[in-house]
Amino acid sequence: MYDKNENAICKVCQIEIEKLKNANLIDEEKLKIFKNPRRILEANFPITRDDGKIEIIQAFRVLYNGNLGPGKGGIRFHQDVNLEEVSELAFIMSLKTALTELPFGGAKGGVKINPKDYSENELEKISRGYIQEFWRYLGPKIDVPAPDVNTNPKIMGWMRDEFEKMIGEKSPAFITGKTVADGGSEGRDKSTAMGAFYIIQEKYKNIENKSEISIAIQGFGNAGATIAKLLFDAGYKVVAVSDSKTGIFEKENGLNIDEIYNFIYSGKTKKRLSEWDKNEKISNGDLLELNVDILIPAALGDVITFDNAEKIQAKEIIELANGPISPRAEEVLLKKNILIIPDLLANSGGVIVSVFEWEQNLKNEHWDLETVNEKLKTKILKAYEEVKNEAQEKNIDWRLAAHKIAVEKITQKSE
Ligand code: GLU
Repeated sequence: MYDKNENAICKVCQIEIEKLKNANLIDEEKLKIFKNPRRILEANFPITRDDGKIEIIQAFRVLYNGNLGPGKGGIRFHQDVNLEEVSELAFIMSLKTALTELPFGGAKGGVKINPKDYSENELEKISRGYIQEFWRYLGPKIDVPAPDVNTNPKIMGWMRDEFEKMIGEKSPAFITGKTVADGGSEGRDKSTAMGAFYIIQEKYKNIENKSEISIAIQGFGNAGATIAKLLFDAGYKVVAVSDSKTGIFEKENGLNIDEIYNFIYSGKTKKRLSEWDKNEKISNGDLLELNVDILIPAALGDVITFDNAEKIQAKEIIELANGPISPRAEEVLLKKNILIIPDLLANSGGVIVSVFEWEQNLKNEHWDLETVNEKLKTKILKAYEEVKNEAQEKNIDWRLAAHKIAVEKITQKSE
């Protein structure tokens, strides 16, 4: 019988599995495999910094579940990385790949550093060091990494190179999110935002005048800035965006995202929103509490917690980040009838196109952007319809519906 595991590594995973149990949605016996991650790797490896000093770098790779295939999931570089968080993110990845019917399990990696504190040379050493520690447990048929918070195609390139050195042969399908020149897929860079954009377009297809729909976006990194631009270009009213330090806000007419995007991204180095002086400033906390139609958290996890949940006024939240709402906050939001489109659906565009990249690498093919986006749209909207229908039929929230579908797909395969 399923019983609560007090020593669970990931508490959020436990809570989510408990919810499925309590709603009698899944056979309890089958839930046992989700108690803890299947495999946990931790390393503490040294690098020599530019000043000659030695520093120990803490790194993780967690495979949460591998029933449906090799592990899949990004590697993040962040000062707050820890085993519990990496496990939670690997759990979300397991459900995400299952929900979107990708032939993969779920994994995640993390390196506990603030990348802003390291030179390019040091970041390369860290990226290569990560692969030297974990390469035996990685590979196109074992576990396939990708970018996540603060990692990018350049880092994927270093990692690919190091992996190929370790195994002594070319293996582009070992990692996804590479530059197109290095075997990456067209459209992978924008795919996380593009997937969410297709969902929003589908959901609001009957509203002709998109400027009636107001949107606030937290995060102006790859996912946040790209979704802001896609929505702005399609005519939606984006009233606020923010980076980790500053938000900007224009309630009446909405922000001119084209101008802001160019200002931030077209110089030699990326600028900060604090340098943008044309609109009113707003704090990240206040941005989350704006009275908008759609709120899109597109940065880090746990930004809506029990402390601010009651103050959230958005009608709908689309989780472009992984885990932005804590379970206790979610209870409050659901009571307020706020619709939450959960991470494993809303941000699955990234991993979907990652798997297209893997497939192209294995088949030695190169698909054009139109083909990639068409396939992405078909796949994500299928998952969207499935979750929507399940939520309606069972009268449950969208996360629970998505989790039920994913867990069913995972547990259909026997151990
Ligand atoms: N890091 C992304 C995610 O959380 C992408 C993972 C991947 O492409 O494997 O979904």
